[in-house]
Amino acid sequence: MGLTKDEALQRLRTRGLRATAPRLAVLRVLSEATGPLSHSEVVQRLGEVDWDPATTYRNLVKLRDAGLAPVVSRVDGMDRYALSGERDAEHRHPHFLCEDCGRVACLPDELTESLSVDGPWGESIRKAMVQLLGACPDCLAQPG
Ligand SMILES: [Zn+2]
Ligand SMILES: [Zn+2]
Repeated sequence: MGLTKDEALQRLRTRGLRATAPRLAVLRVLSEATGPLSHSEVVQRLGEVDWDPATTYRNLVKLRDAGLAPVVSRVDGMDRYALSGERDAEHRHPHFLCEDCGRVACLPDELTESLSVDGPWGESIRKAMVQLLGACPDCLAQPG
């Protein structure tokens, strides 16, 4: 369910950003991901491109600052970015880091609904970045 080029152009334009090849490519990669991605995961998914990883990073930061690709996960101390403007754009759901393959997956909201409370901790819990660690289903399914 990736962004079309027109949609990506539109997003850059509404934020007053020039539509450069790295920006369009980073938006496309984020829009095709099923979970938030770190800088190195974005670089990896871009594959062979005409610019270096530092350029990708600078553009990722630019998109972040413009609100197009907020950091939605800091599991393991690493910033991971996701496209804004999607359903569930703020990723206020828990994330799961697989310690075997390193992927970060979005988990259903229901997992944290039981944590909903009123009172002084209510807002804190709504804003918390919940992170779970372990082995993902794919890794668990692998023999050995
Ligand atoms: Zn895994
Ligand atoms: Zn998520």
